[in-house]
Amino acid sequence: MLPPHTPAPDPVREPWRASMRRALDEAARAAGSGDVPVGAVVLDPAGQLIATGHNEREATGDPTAHAEVLALRRAAGRLGAWRLTGCTLVVTLEPCTMCAGAVVQSRVDRLVFGALDEKAGAAGSLWDVVRDRRLNHRPEVIHGVLAEECAGLLTAFFRDR
Ligand SMILES: [Zn+2]
Repeated sequence: MLPPHTPAPDPVREPWRASMRRALDEAARAAGSGDVPVGAVVLDPAGQLIATGHNEREATGDPTAHAEVLALRRAAGRLGAWRLTGCTLVVTLEPCTMCAGAVVQSRVDRLVFGALDEKAGAAGSLWDVVRDRRLNHRPEVIHGVLAEECAGLLTAFFRDR
């Protein structure tokens, strides 16, 4: 018998929690510039963290400066190649259409995200760009990792504005 309040084991999501905590730390950094707190990290094929990013639209005035795009760009810079085969993108919020497109373009093996974005999500909510069977490259998708923490950061940000 499990003691009360012990969450059920979750072998799919558990391995990604530590990386999602890093993405959450990154998300918190966005608030300094008034940016929506979304954070992302990229892991190399061995699972080592090679890049981070957080929303910087307000900080830089760049409409494409979403956490995922920045993290993917930095990962490619680090590896010296645009093709991120074997890598994993971990992000606190379901990607938008632009970022889902960037996920496909980068050829990462896996997309891991926390909270669903029911208003703009393109990895299962409004669209499913990353698993569209018409595309050649379709990464594995794992969602719901630390979803409550990821959503909570956003809720607090919009409440306090
Ligand atoms: Zn985006």
